[in-house]
Amino acid sequence: MTIRSISILGATGSIGASTLDLVRRVRGQWRVIALTAHGNVAELARLAREFEAEIAVIADEARLPELRAALAGSGIEAAAGTAALVEASSRPADLTIAAIVGCAGLAPTMAAIERGGMVGLANKEALVSAGGVMTSAVARHGATLLPVDSEHNAIFQCLAGNDPAHVRSITLTASGGPFRDWSAEQLATATPAQAVKHPNWDMGAKISVDSATMFNKGLELIEAHHLFPVGLDALRIIVHPQSIVHSMVEYRDGSTLAQLGPSDMRVPIAAVLAWPERMDTPCAPLDLGSIGELTFRAPDEVRFPATRLARAAAEAGGAAPAVLNAANEIAVAAFLAGQIAFNRIAAHVEQLLSCYVPPAPACLADVVAVDAEARQRALALMEPA
Ligand code: NDP
Repeated sequence: MTIRSISILGATGSIGASTLDLVRRVRGQWRVIALTAHGNVAELARLAREFEAEIAVIADEARLPELRAALAGSGIEAAAGTAALVEASSRPADLTIAAIVGCAGLAPTMAAIERGGMVGLANKEALVSAGGVMTSAVARHGATLLPVDSEHNAIFQCLAGNDPAHVRSITLTASGGPFRDWSAEQLATATPAQAVKHPNWDMGAKISVDSATMFNKGLELIEAHHLFPVGLDALRIIVHPQSIVHSMVEYRDGSTLAQLGPSDMRVPIAAVLAWPERMDTPCAPLDLGSIGELTFRAPDEVRFPATRLARAAAEAGGAAPAVLNAANEIAVAAFLAGQIAFNRIAAHVEQLLSCYVPPAPACLADVVAVDAEARQRALALMEPA
């Protein structure tokens, strides 16, 4: 049996927990290098001890004394701050799971890519913001990017063994989120508690809100544009409320390959952990007989403008996707804090995109600068005049 090493960036989150759940079941096959979190010291220390990690990093520097105390006597290194996150991510590991939420995950993800490793990418905001800066770093450093996002993992599986030149179109499925059948009037009154209650998936708060606005699908459209070699006009979105068909690839001969599975992130995560092999998971087998019907419908870009905005940002290219992502992160945080109405999220993003058009980023520092400036401008737009 080969023992592989793994680092998990964002170990205390939903994707981190699902990844560690699978690692726990085949504990002897994995050596854990780095585990990271933002502020949840207690959970980070508990996981670091359980998995005998080499290093635990907390992004919030003020929490370092607490982390040191929680790890005292364990022999596990404790570190804090962005530089420590980057240092831990650049330590050799056979696989890094990039599962920090938001553009905060960009620098550590790039560090894992720059050491030429294999990276399981859940942190879509990092790829959306960095775009070609990240994909060219992957090529330059001989890294391998394996998509964790269920849709992109599905596409990755449907493309395996086929020549991408034969692809006619790629269709991303979307559950439509908890508000897919709500009227525009109802959407204006949606609360954070309603938005984070996804009908099919159990996820972190930010992606749950993104799912409700359809920004999640918009970000995924841009993510797919960078991961797979087809033009934007060959990328489609369809609403599929049951979240069983995770995405589809149509070939020039009329064959469409789809990947199906339960709505459980451990399925795509397992595909990444074991790639190019397969591994067992505890996920309930797919029982199509009891599901009964799989339905599909076109997205409504009037009630949910996010996918239209994302497609326009992808078409504009350059820094537009980074601006869209930063504005969305700020607007989602404001919505979760009860500061803006649900239907203002897309409006704020559209407003910032129309008035802030920075030059295309050429390197990581440029992306970080655009992200920071876009956040400041997004915050300023939200202040009452
Ligand atoms: P969670 O909110 O559950 O977890 C986020 C993780 O990132 C936590 O470990 C958190 O630490 C850490 N974190 C948060 N902010 C920072 C920061 N500023 N610096 C460093 N670390 C930080 O998110 P999810 O697991 O739901 O999502 C993670 C990523 O995966 C997102 O990009 C999401 O879009 C993507 N994804 C998630 C899916 C899901 O099912 N959840 C499905 C597909 C993609 P702490 O706990 O200490 O706050």
